[in-house]
Amino acid sequence: MKNLVIVESPTKARTLSRFLGPDFQIEATMGHIRDLPEKKLGIDVAHEFTPDYQLIVKRKDRIRELTSYAKNAERIILASDPDREGEAIAWHTKEVLGSRFKVIGKEKKEESKNLEPNTYNLEPKFERISFHEITKSAIDEALKNPREIDMQLVDAQQARRVLDRLVGYKLSPLLWKKMGMRWLSAGRVQSVAVRLIVEREREILAFKPLEYWIIDVELEKSSQGSGDRNQETKTFLARLSEINGKKAEIGSKEITDAVVENLKNAVYTVSDVATKEVRRFSLPPFTTSTLQQAASNKFGWSAKRTMHAAQSLYEEGYITYHRTDSTNLSTEAIGMVREFISVEFNKLYLPSEPKLYKTKSKVAQEAHEAIRPTKVRTATAMDMSVILRSKTTKNPVGNEDSARDPSQSLRMTLMPEGLGRDLELLYSLIWRRFVASQMSEAVFDQTSLSIEAKYDAEVYRLKVGGQKMKFDGFLALYEKERKGEEEKKGEEEENREVPALTIGEGLNYIKTIPQQKFTEPPARYSEASLIKILEEKSIGRPSTYAPIISTIQDRKYVEKMEKRFRPTDLGNAVADFLVKNFPTIFDVAFTAQMEGELDGIANGEYSWVNVIRDFYTPFAVKLNEVSETGEKVSVSFGVTDEICPNCGKPLAVKMSKFGKFLACTGFPSCTFKKSIVEKAGITCPRCKGDILVKKTRTGKQFYGCANYPTCTFAAWKKEDIK
Ligand SMILES: [Zn+2]
Ligand SMILES: [Zn+2]
Repeated sequence: MKNLVIVESPTKARTLSRFLGPDFQIEATMGHIRDLPEKKLGIDVAHEFTPDYQLIVKRKDRIRELTSYAKNAERIILASDPDREGEAIAWHTKEVLGSRFKVIGKEKKEESKNLEPNTYNLEPKFERISFHEITKSAIDEALKNPREIDMQLVDAQQARRVLDRLVGYKLSPLLWKKMGMRWLSAGRVQSVAVRLIVEREREILAFKPLEYWIIDVELEKSSQGSGDRNQETKTFLARLSEINGKKAEIGSKEITDAVVENLKNAVYTVSDVATKEVRRFSLPPFTTSTLQQAASNKFGWSAKRTMHAAQSLYEEGYITYHRTDSTNLSTEAIGMVREFISVEFNKLYLPSEPKLYKTKSKVAQEAHEAIRPTKVRTATAMDMSVILRSKTTKNPVGNEDSARDPSQSLRMTLMPEGLGRDLELLYSLIWRRFVASQMSEAVFDQTSLSIEAKYDAEVYRLKVGGQKMKFDGFLALYEKERKGEEEKKGEEEENREVPALTIGEGLNYIKTIPQQKFTEPPARYSEASLIKILEEKSIGRPSTYAPIISTIQDRKYVEKMEKRFRPTDLGNAVADFLVKNFPTIFDVAFTAQMEGELDGIANGEYSWVNVIRDFYTPFAVKLNEVSETGEKVSVSFGVTDEICPNCGKPLAVKMSKFGKFLACTGFPSCTFKKSIVEKAGITCPRCKGDILVKKTRTGKQFYGCANYPTCTFAAWKKEDIK
């Protein structure tokens, strides 16, 4: 065998094998093969924070196989993913394939001794290649330009690993000691995310709603007379905006009633009509964070689910690398999509110049591309029908030039069936956003009317606004995602038609419609808005959004209610403890600074050991101080009305790794405990008993019959119970 190519996953290996000939053997490491030990710190703090990397036990056979292939190969090509994590996997692979084995876990000592140290010098054989898409041209190009492993990227990954390990391993025993729950753990960035959710909840609790009123007046053109009102007259609503030259701010029913009374008897005249053309521009192609937000808003997906689908699409060769904070597009990608737009839409939809989007990323080495399809002519059936439909209809301008030729066949490839619904939906979203990002802007006519209402000395001003689409542009393909409530406001005007009126025209009053409203507290974070703020505050990175959000839920610090995050009692207590005792480390700005320093390591500005030392020295001092003098915190989850069957004392709610349970308040003299019974509100289809919400030993929720073990009915999902 001449060339051994090593990647992370079997899917990626299979896709690569389609492009590489028989001279290439492609093997997968199956993820990381070496890591910090599971059961101890594994960092030599006294000696430059040297990590004690150990082989992962379950990869032992794989490592043996890879080593034997490596000995016989002429070239060993490390082709893991194009980011810090991928660079680290390449480096570990290179280190391991030429070194004595050390295995993590319960491995017997004698056995690991039996593994032969490698006596071959494999060093000259290693090459590193990286590519942002798994396509023939990208692989060929990468193979022509092999490079050394980039130790700056590896160091940035090591620094994050070591930093998070130090914080996690040192804080856990402290939490156990001070909070009495011997299973708690706290992460560096995750705790800051919990803090944001805790603080938002407190803002909501402290919020005092203010009453305000909005007043709409229904009007019609006075020249129409009353006779033909029912035929073609359209009445319209105008909203009160000013009272005697001041912004209308009405805070009570009394004032509203007085204004309504005056408006009833006022004389209405059109005082201003203004029409202007407004353009709406397409959004940049997706980055990891915007993709996760869009999939959350549009499909209600978790970041984890989105990344899972994106990973498959990338490994199957359909999209570019899905961990990126860049909105750049390669010259080839722009050429490909512009050709597509000009042929499949028409030239009105193609801007004269390609659209360039600025990237916020500060890390030059990771100047990836945005997430986009590798081949724009591969699409889902759904998207192809949109293209087909748009080819057979004229666009709203009605221009001769824009009539699309329906006979022109689509030179497109259908996404293969059987990839699954998630992959199809996500691919379609990415495909549309990419194509739309290079299409012309949409054009609207925006009209605003100003109406004066006079009664005695009072002058009221009312407004009517609306806009009408003249040209759909990119909207032909990419409609906006459903937005959260807070973003909906201000969009009411869209597509509302404004009656044709002229200045000085009189209007007939029909009725007033006053509405009482209250100001609303800030909304709880959804997955989308949490990712957005993590990015805005510079404390999240493409590789970290999804794990942060999963971890804070797994650890029971926050829970989702109606797709929004709320802190649990435990989350509140832990966040308060950490913020009080470690105000610097769990500060948003400090965390952003640490992320910036990790970027600096990747850029070669800092050495990783210095960054870790600067962090660890004050942290260790603080840790000792809090361990000695920090106050103990007792977290109360409440006492119930239920009485202990053994001793008659009340039962209290307690918390374990797997969730809440009930325990006797007589503990330790009485050790009675039981699980919390939660009725699902449905009956068992077999015995008509109650169905309860239960948890497996590993904490997974399921539905089971209350008459267990007499009745053994159980189901994973509520919908499955009929
Ligand atoms: Zn008891
Ligand atoms: Zn039953």
